[in-house]
Amino acid sequence: MSSMFGKPRAGGERPPQTPLAECNVAILGCQGAGKSALTVKFLTKRFISEYDPNLEDTYASEELVDQQPVLLKVMDTADQDGPGNCERYLHWASAFLVVYSIDNRESFEGCQRYLEILAQHMRGCQCRSPVLLLGNKLDMEQYRAVSPACPRRKDKWMLPWCSPACRQVPAAEGMSLARRFGCLFYEVSACQDFVGVQHVFHEAVREVRRQ
Ligand code: GDP
Ligand code: MG
Repeated sequence: MSSMFGKPRAGGERPPQTPLAECNVAILGCQGAGKSALTVKFLTKRFISEYDPNLEDTYASEELVDQQPVLLKVMDTADQDGPGNCERYLHWASAFLVVYSIDNRESFEGCQRYLEILAQHMRGCQCRSPVLLLGNKLDMEQYRAVSPACPRRKDKWMLPWCSPACRQVPAAEGMSLARRFGCLFYEVSACQDFVGVQHVFHEAVREVRRQ
């Protein structure tokens, strides 16, 4: 497949008539995984903690990735019940970010369904769009949740054994799932540094350029 991106120009200037190369990125995953928070962080550098879970929208941002301009379009999807009705993004996107939350195993299991649908779609159309698997909410790793099963949880003090970390999905599991589906894997946090979030969106563009 030929790249839709032109060769880099000296000085990074583009003539006024040349349309900007485009890259369409769809963000998929279960409700609550942090798709909207990641999208908003990437576009505004801000963390918005409450976002309408049913709102789906597409945004565009002119980005410079490795000194080459690109019009990056981001579809922040909001599937109500998993990837049942996925045609709208399967045919639109040139890359996919599949998001789960490291503190929620269900969201990890849910994103396997997305990876399967994507793999099936790519087999069907004999195309190959890059997929990046993202474990979001990395900041939650530092917190500890009190297990409801712990007999000492009403005590003023808590022993380490009765307060497992909030992380429910080890990084190794994310990595191994990504390997199984041939995707890149990153852990990120929408509420921490912007650079880590920007990096994964720019990596998606780089992967599309490599196609
Ligand atoms: P979506 O349904 O996948 O779009 O999820 P949202 O972006 O609406 O986020 C769901 C909830 O997770 C919200 O309460 C967010 O504030 C929270 N959230 C999203 N990203 C992060 C993150 O990186 N860290 C933490 N601690 N919370 C997050
Ligand atoms: Mg959302």
